[in-house]
Amino acid sequence: MKTPITVAYGDGIGPEIMRATLHMLEAAGAAIAPESIEIGEAMYLQGYSSGIPPAAWESLRRTGVLLKAPITTPLGGGYKSLNVTLRKSLGLYANVRPCTAYAPYVRTLHPTMDVVIIRENEEDLYGGIEHRQTQEVYQTLKLVSEPGSEKILRYAFEYARTQGRKKVTALSKDNIMKLTDGLFHRIFTEVSQEYPDIASEHLIIDIGTARLADTPERFDVIVTGNLYGDILSDVAAQIAGSVGLAGSANIGDHGAMFEAIHGSAPDIAGKDLANPSGLLQAAISMLHYIGDGQTAQTLQNAWLCTLEDGVHTADIFEAGRSSQKVGTWAFAEAVTERLGQRPKQLPPARPGRQQRLDTRPRLARRQEKRLVGVDVFLCWEEPGRDPEVLAERLRAPMGGPFQLVMITNRGAKVWPNGIPETFCTDHWRCRMEGQGQPADIAALLAALAEAGLEVVKTENLYTFDGKPGYSLGQGQ
Ligand code: NAD
Repeated sequence: MKTPITVAYGDGIGPEIMRATLHMLEAAGAAIAPESIEIGEAMYLQGYSSGIPPAAWESLRRTGVLLKAPITTPLGGGYKSLNVTLRKSLGLYANVRPCTAYAPYVRTLHPTMDVVIIRENEEDLYGGIEHRQTQEVYQTLKLVSEPGSEKILRYAFEYARTQGRKKVTALSKDNIMKLTDGLFHRIFTEVSQEYPDIASEHLIIDIGTARLADTPERFDVIVTGNLYGDILSDVAAQIAGSVGLAGSANIGDHGAMFEAIHGSAPDIAGKDLANPSGLLQAAISMLHYIGDGQTAQTLQNAWLCTLEDGVHTADIFEAGRSSQKVGTWAFAEAVTERLGQRPKQLPPARPGRQQRLDTRPRLARRQEKRLVGVDVFLCWEEPGRDPEVLAERLRAPMGGPFQLVMITNRGAKVWPNGIPETFCTDHWRCRMEGQGQPADIAALLAALAEAGLEVVKTENLYTFDGKPGYSLGQGQ
C-alpha cells in the first residue's frame, strides 16, 4: 500500500531539489504515491493572494501530508505568507527542526551538536493582527493561548520521550511579558511534572540564545514560542554547519508539512548547484511520520555515507575536507549508490519512531472572571502633551462606576506622579477601574466622544479568581 502524499515543486531551486529528492525516495523504495500541486509565485501572480489555488487545498486536505520545496514570495505588497497560511489553516502547531553537526565532514565549531528546536507554529506575533492607531503609533498583537501552549509543551516532552532524548529546555521572556510568556513558563512547569524521566529547565530567551550559540552541546530539545523559535532555529542550523542541510516538520492533529528550512535561492536556481539535503532531511522525517521508518533509516544512512565520503555540493565543499564537488543531481545519484550502507564514523540513523503524539490539552483551567475596569486608549495630540491636562479632561466625562487611576504612554506611567523626562507620543492608555458592567463601558465611551476625545481602542480589565488578568504600568 502506497501512502498518497502531496508534493509542491516550489520556485527557484525548488524544482531541482524536489526532483533529486523524489529520485532518492523512489530508489530507496519509499511506499509513497506523490501527487503534485502548484502553489507559490506563479499562483500569487495569477491573483491568489495566499499563493494557494482551490485545487491545491483539495489535494492537501485529502492526503494530509505535504512535501514542499521553497517558495518565492513576490516583492511588493498584497501577498500573504503562504507558509503561515498553510500552517494556520491546517492547524500545524508544532515546527520541529533537528540541528545536527556532521563533523568532521562538514565544518562547524560545535562538532557534537545535536539539538532539536520545537517551535510553536500558530500563535504569538504571527497572527498578523496589526493596526496603525494614531499618526505616530502602530501595534501588533501577541496572542498566546493556554491550550496552544499546553499542546506545544506536551509535544516537546512526548517528542523527547519517544525519540530517546533526555532534556527539554523552554525559552521565553517572562521577566518582561509576565502574562503571555509567563503563561508559557507556568504551563511548562506543570507539564514537566508529568514527565519525571525527562530533565527540564527554563531559561530567559536572551541568555538561552547566547548559550545555544556558544555551547549548543548543553542542549537537547528546546521548546519555545513562534517568533523566538523562528530566529533561534536559523541560528542553530547555521552553527551546526549549514542552513542547506536542515529540514523541518510542521505537525498538526490532521496533517503535516515537510520542508527544507532554506529559501528558494534564486541566485543559484537552474544551475544544478543547490544542495538537496535540507529537502531530503524533511522527506526522511515525512517517512517516519507516515510509518515508513525502515526506508527513512536506509536513506539517512546512505546520505550520511555520502557526506563521509566527501561527496559534497558547492555550499559545503571545502578543499582538504571534501573529495568531490558535485551538482544537485550527481549528489542524489551518490546517495542512491550508497543505499544499504552504514556510516563508519557518524552516528547511524536512529530507528524509525512515530511522530504523531498525543498532545491533547488536559489541564483544568476554568476560573471565576470579573470585570474590574477598562483601559481606554486615546489618540491625543494637544500641544504640550501634558498628562495633567489629559487627566483633567478625563475626569469631566465621568459619572459612571469607573475612576481614572493611571495614564501611561507606550507602557510607561506618566500620571499620576509622572516625570517630565518621559517622552510622550500621541498614544495614551488611560486606566479606569471600578465594579461596572459592559454597558457602563459603552456609556463611558459615549461620554468621552461627547467630550471630544478620540478613543482608538479599549481593553477590558478582568480578574480571574481574584488575580488581575492585566499588567501594571511601568513605574506603577
Ligand atoms: P535563501 O535561503 O533562499 O538563500 C540564502 C543563501 O543561501 C543564498 O546565497 C542561497 O544561494 C543559499 N542557499 C539556500 N539554499 C541552498 C541550498 N539548498 N544549496 C545551496 N545554497 C543554498 O534565502 P533568501 O535569499 O533570503 O530568500 C530567497 C527567497 O526564498 C525569498 O523569496 C524568500 O521569501 C523565500 N523563502 C522561502 C522559504 C520557504 O518557502 N520555506 C523560506 C525562506 C525564504
